[in-house]
Amino acid sequence: MHLFLIFQEIFNIQYSLFNFHYSLFNIFFVPSHSKNSFRNMRFKEEINESYTMAEAIKEAQRCLHCKVPQCKKGCPISNDIPDWIHELKKGNLGNAISIIRAKSNLPAVCGRVCAHEKQCEGNCVLGKKGEPVNIGKLERFVADFDSDNELTHEDIAEKTRGKIAVIGAGPSGITVAGDLSRMGFAVEIFEMEAQCGGVLRYGIPEYRLPKEVVAREIRYIEKMGVVIHRNTHVGENITVESLFAQGFDAIFIGTGLSKPKSLEIPIWQNGRCISEGEGAVKCSDLKRIRLATHFLRRVELISEGFMNRDELPVDEGAKVFVIGCGNTAMDASRSALRIGCSAVDVIYNKGIDTMSALRAEYDDAVKEGVQFRWWSSISEIHVDDNLDITEIVLETQEPDKEPVRQVLPANNIIFAIGAIPATRIVRSTSGLENDDHNFLITRDVPYGMTTKKGVFAGGDVVGRQATVVHAMQDAKQVALGIAQYVDAVKLLKIINE
Ligand code: FAD
Repeated sequence: MHLFLIFQEIFNIQYSLFNFHYSLFNIFFVPSHSKNSFRNMRFKEEINESYTMAEAIKEAQRCLHCKVPQCKKGCPISNDIPDWIHELKKGNLGNAISIIRAKSNLPAVCGRVCAHEKQCEGNCVLGKKGEPVNIGKLERFVADFDSDNELTHEDIAEKTRGKIAVIGAGPSGITVAGDLSRMGFAVEIFEMEAQCGGVLRYGIPEYRLPKEVVAREIRYIEKMGVVIHRNTHVGENITVESLFAQGFDAIFIGTGLSKPKSLEIPIWQNGRCISEGEGAVKCSDLKRIRLATHFLRRVELISEGFMNRDELPVDEGAKVFVIGCGNTAMDASRSALRIGCSAVDVIYNKGIDTMSALRAEYDDAVKEGVQFRWWSSISEIHVDDNLDITEIVLETQEPDKEPVRQVLPANNIIFAIGAIPATRIVRSTSGLENDDHNFLITRDVPYGMTTKKGVFAGGDVVGRQATVVHAMQDAKQVALGIAQYVDAVKLLKIINE
């Protein structure tokens, strides 16, 4: 452990020197503001600082290594938390990460975005009388230390058991790919975007989850032998049937929720309602109304230089109203402030007790200046001759109180009211069925198989509780279902020969 602390000190000094040179470089060579990006680069700063080695070991020493660990019970993927914390305590970081990786393909992600206060940390016995062990931050530390220093390398299993296609490289697809690859299957991922990660890449903002962290997790999966085909839209460029024709034994669909929900709100122009009758203007026709996931995606693409700032019609200084009160609404409202909007109000038609956002996310949004208007809804949108929003009418109806009607200046509205799966793959595949809400129908045996033989699905697309770790939990079970199915089909073939 002593050696580790010395190493850590040297590492920290070099890191600070690097940062110092980097700042000088920025001062002299980087223009203070590029018109193609955001003026406010606070957007890129990660909010929570990482532990140093000494801090991590000190925190790990608080763990009681309980015989019946409640933290593990609280973790949807049953991460062996006390065991890896025990290794961390001793400075055995290689062992610690190996224990974590046995259950998780996304440790650096889970360490940052899981709802720890509801899961592992929420169940830690130390939390009953005091502070629970900061498990999320410790997991993040171990995972980052491992990839920064390339500590561990997995033995790559021989790919002899079969060939699996995975559609979608979000948390569910990555989990299925990683687990099946370890079990000896040759896995190929087909992802429609240029970059992998799904919501991790294009939804959760950089300041909560740096994209380099996601890229590192993807690189790890590729090192395990998983082949990734980017920019490949299944249902458009290729189909499920054509994948079977290419010789895949089974196919996994982990395409998430790519169709955000929208609202229709009456639109008024020069004292006349223009959202009714012939030539009606809809909310989707107004460029200053955005769906939260589309907004977050654009912010991400602009901040990385893939899109110009003027392609996002949310101006600096704008007054923004975000409808909805889940984590997506928190990300959209905080991102709006970070790109320079002057005021952001979250509109929610119920009270704080029923919001689906995590308390910590809500607290951070309040700290950063987001205003919350409970029991409220927008009843009218007022636009000028260019269809730019000028005002909204806000109706507030608190229980047992008189209703209040306010006309407020506004420039943009962002809808963050949920999403459902797209239907492109269902429409292009015979025998594949979804339910009334577009979720794919699956069965329990073999776990995760859809109504089409050999096609499996998991994660958000089947209507799981929409969090990263629940998508992973489901995908892990589906991976076992796929392995059972492929083995059984091969065995039957041998028997029938
Ligand atoms: P996704 O992450 O949606 O991945 C689906 C992948 O499939 C994408 O890469 C997509 O491009 C690809 N795809 C779709 N259709 C096709 C096709 N036809 N062909 C090829 N590829 C296709 N959860 C948390 O636990 N913590 C958080 O802090 C959190 N914050 C969130 C913030 C936002 C803004 C949002 C929208 C969600 C958040 N969630 C959070 C929820 C979490 O991100 C999701 O539950 C999780 O990503 C679901 O994983 P998935 O693999 O099922 O789907």
